[in-house]
Amino acid sequence: MTAAYRVKDLQFSYSRTPVLQGISTEIGRGEFVAVIGPNGAGKSTFLKVLAGLLRRYKGDVQFGENNLARMSAQELARQVAFVPQETHVVFPFSAGEIVLMGRLPHREGFFDSPADLEGANAAMELTDTAALSRKTFSELSGGERQRVVLASALAQDPEVLLLDEPTVYLDLKHQMQFYDILERLNLERQMTIISVTHDINLAARYARRMIAVRDGRFAADGSPEAVLTPQHLYEIFEIAASVFQRPDGRGNYIVPAS
Ligand code: ADP
Repeated sequence: MTAAYRVKDLQFSYSRTPVLQGISTEIGRGEFVAVIGPNGAGKSTFLKVLAGLLRRYKGDVQFGENNLARMSAQELARQVAFVPQETHVVFPFSAGEIVLMGRLPHREGFFDSPADLEGANAAMELTDTAALSRKTFSELSGGERQRVVLASALAQDPEVLLLDEPTVYLDLKHQMQFYDILERLNLERQMTIISVTHDINLAARYARRMIAVRDGRFAADGSPEAVLTPQHLYEIFEIAASVFQRPDGRGNYIVPAS
C-alpha cells in the first residue's frame, strides 16, 4: 500500500506545553481512519498538522513523495481537503457559491471554467445538495450545512479528506447519512479519510482503522476490534465499559457502565 502520510517523531506545541509528543505512523492511501481520544489529547492538532494548517512542528511529515513542510498551501489544497466541526459564513453566499469556492485551488483564471462547474455539480450530486444550491448558507439546517461544506471539500477533488468532528452537531439520521457518503467516497474512489470523532460507536461502524490518542501520543492503533477493548477504554478514556459485537457484523460497539 502506498502511503498518503509518513510521520516520524512528530512533536508540536502551541506554547511551552508539548501537545504532540513524538508520533510516528504511516497512513496508507485509501484508508478510512477514525481518530478518537479524550478532550485535549491532541487529535485536532494532529489533524491540522496533516492538513498543513500548523507548520511549526518538529519531526518529519511526508505527504506522498513530498515533504509536507515544503509544500505550498495551494499545492496541498489540490490534494487535501479539511472539513471542520462547524463553518461560519459571514457573507450571504449561496450554497452553490460555497461549493464552487472549493474549486479555488484548481482555478487558473478569474472565472469559473467548465471543469470548475462540472466539479462543483458532481460534488453536489454526491452529497445530495443540488436542490440547496440557491439557498443562502445561513438559511440551511445544521445537517444541510455540513453536507454543503463536504460538497465544497469534494469540489476540491482531493485525494485525502480530513474531518474534525464533522457530525458533532448533527442528529443520528444525519450523522449516518454523512458517514454513508464518506464510506462511498472511500470504497468507490479510494479516497483516504481521516476523521476525528467523539462518537466511538459510529467510528467503529465505518472506519477500518482506529487510532486512540492520549496525551499527545498514540495510545492504541489498529482495527476497531483491537482498539476497543475494556482495558483500552479504561486506560484511555478512564471509563468502565463493555464491548459488544454489532448484530450486523459491522464492527463492535461500546456501552459505558452507568
Ligand atoms: P483534542 O482535539 O484532542 O481535543 P486539541 O488538539 O484541540 O485536542 O488540543 C490539544 C491541547 O492543545 C489542549 O490542551 C488545547 O488546550 C491546546 N490547544 C489547542 N489549540 C490551541 C491553540 N490554538 N493555542 C493554544 N493551545 C491550544
